[in-house]
Amino acid sequence: MYREFRDPAMVKRLLSRIEAVLEPPVTLMEVCGTHTVAVFRYGLRRLLPEGLELLSGPGCPVCVTPDFIIDAALEIARQPGVVLATFGDMLRVPGSDQSLEELKAGGAQVKVIYSPLEALALAEEYPQRQVVFFAVGFETTVPMIAATVLKAKEKGLTNFSLLCAHKTIPGALRSLLSSPDVNIDGLLCPGHVSAVIGTRPYEFIPREFGIGAVVTGFEPVDLLQGIYLLLQQHREKAPRVENQYRRWVPAAGNPEALKLIRAVFAPCGSHWRGLGYLEGTGLELKEEYQAFDALRRFQVFPTVKPARKGCRCGDVLRGAMAPPDCPLFATTCSPERPVGPCMVSVEGTCRAYYTYGR
Ligand code: SF4
Repeated sequence: MYREFRDPAMVKRLLSRIEAVLEPPVTLMEVCGTHTVAVFRYGLRRLLPEGLELLSGPGCPVCVTPDFIIDAALEIARQPGVVLATFGDMLRVPGSDQSLEELKAGGAQVKVIYSPLEALALAEEYPQRQVVFFAVGFETTVPMIAATVLKAKEKGLTNFSLLCAHKTIPGALRSLLSSPDVNIDGLLCPGHVSAVIGTRPYEFIPREFGIGAVVTGFEPVDLLQGIYLLLQQHREKAPRVENQYRRWVPAAGNPEALKLIRAVFAPCGSHWRGLGYLEGTGLELKEEYQAFDALRRFQVFPTVKPARKGCRCGDVLRGAMAPPDCPLFATTCSPERPVGPCMVSVEGTCRAYYTYGR
């Protein structure tokens, strides 16, 4: 069983330490979608001792983007002369009546890109078309998008814009921990996001909620060590913010990346699937860059819609429900025919359960 790991002896050692400090029952949550995939891919849940539950949280940007934003992307992509550029995972997420993939199959110009700079290159290549980048992501991807906006302004591009659906993590964690149906004893905080924002934005977690927060890397031993540190805090009743991922995450984050974000974006309220509307958890273009706002340019006014019938992605994203408890899981909902985004995204909890956890 342990042969799959690069350092099986260290994995065994960490598991015995976890067992030694565990005071059951304990429930921890990994916030980040990349953590969720690593936990499932390496079968870590099966290795953990009884009495320790690991939940998955709202850390997949595709999954937390609500239907009405996807509908806005569809509405923009349907307009004549528009090329909508998007990361691949957004393509198959169903909107109210279809997905971007279905729209593309019907002849719309929807292009999959791997970097926002590719969207900028498309705008330069097709000056007669309007190129709209569907900008989804957390703090990890925002600096690159901010740099792209600066570049577009420098080049004087008037056929490039953003459909901004960025989200920031700390405010969502506050909302999640305030939720009465969520009981968590510690959080494994996202390594990628924290490489940008640092560890300080999590300090409210022990102070306001009395639980620990450990910024954790993505190797199996990182995750096991993060779990061990949280359990140690739980046992000592001394919740605090710790940094397991010091090799990439400085306490103050990445000042250059933060500077880029602040130069182009300002905080705003944002709608999250599963968490609702949360003040200060989104990012909008600052006044001087609003010419790049696709909603303004195309006069699209998205309206909030209720969650799709039967889909329990919202409950899954809050850790209030495990994917197999959704009546649609592996019946009408599968990666081939996804009903909700948690089954589409490679970082989605339902997809991870379906692929590795059954
Ligand atoms: Fe949503 Fe499908 Fe997961 Fe159910 S199984 S919560 S419908 S993605």
